[in-house]
Amino acid sequence: MSSKPVISAHQLNHYFGKGELRKQALFDINLEIYPGEIVIMTGPSGSGKTTLLSLMGGLRSVQEGSLTILEQEMCGASKRKMIQVRKQIGYIFQAHNLLTFLTAKQNVRMSLELHPDYLEKDMDAIATEMLQAVGLGDRVDYYADSLSGGQKQRVAIARALASRPKIVLADEPTAALDKKSGRDVVEIMQRLAKEQGCTILLVTHDNRILDIADRIIHMEDGRLAAASYS
Ligand code: ADP
Ligand code: MG
Repeated sequence: MSSKPVISAHQLNHYFGKGELRKQALFDINLEIYPGEIVIMTGPSGSGKTTLLSLMGGLRSVQEGSLTILEQEMCGASKRKMIQVRKQIGYIFQAHNLLTFLTAKQNVRMSLELHPDYLEKDMDAIATEMLQAVGLGDRVDYYADSLSGGQKQRVAIARALASRPKIVLADEPTAALDKKSGRDVVEIMQRLAKEQGCTILLVTHDNRILDIADRIIHMEDGRLAAASYS
């Protein structure tokens, strides 16, 4: 691919703990992810997937090596720079992390309020449109609490994509869902990402959704290996 990567890691290492308890969680990670790519990361529990994803999302400080996100070097980055980078990324976690005392629309709207350029726009209309895109046009004013698991995860997708981020990071987004809802949510993510031209990095244990990926990578004991079945 000719365009510049949106995420680029070189000889990235990461450690938890101090002194004798220090334990290395990531070893010599080298990875480039390009604009518009859908990359799925698989690997056993404890292999370092969440650690790597949180570094790539600017949610954790880089300790060693180089990590560039949207052309910003994250090793040694200030808190301010990390916050700037985070605003350009959408996050979807296993637990949907919706605010249950807000409606679906209010949850999506909140993510827009972080962006100064949305404050003058009709954020309610944008949030409603996004909820329609994930098939929840008839649930806009329902409290998050009253939605099913699959519906909540679709609200989380609408929230992550509403501000049209360049990168979406998803950590086991289908883990709490049945087969059909799991499939539905990743297909919605795939469609919206292709429409918006955004890049997706998705961690999953779910073999049934691997086919939506452009590329599959595999983590094992803190090391990255390209999967052969991609
Ligand atoms: P995965 O997401 O693949 O299950 P993680 O990235 O959560 O793996 O964890 C990788 C390794 O790092 C595991 O050995 C885990 O115990 C350790 N680890 C993760 N987070 C922390 C933390 N906050 N403190 C100490 N060790 C951690
Ligand atoms: Mg994890």
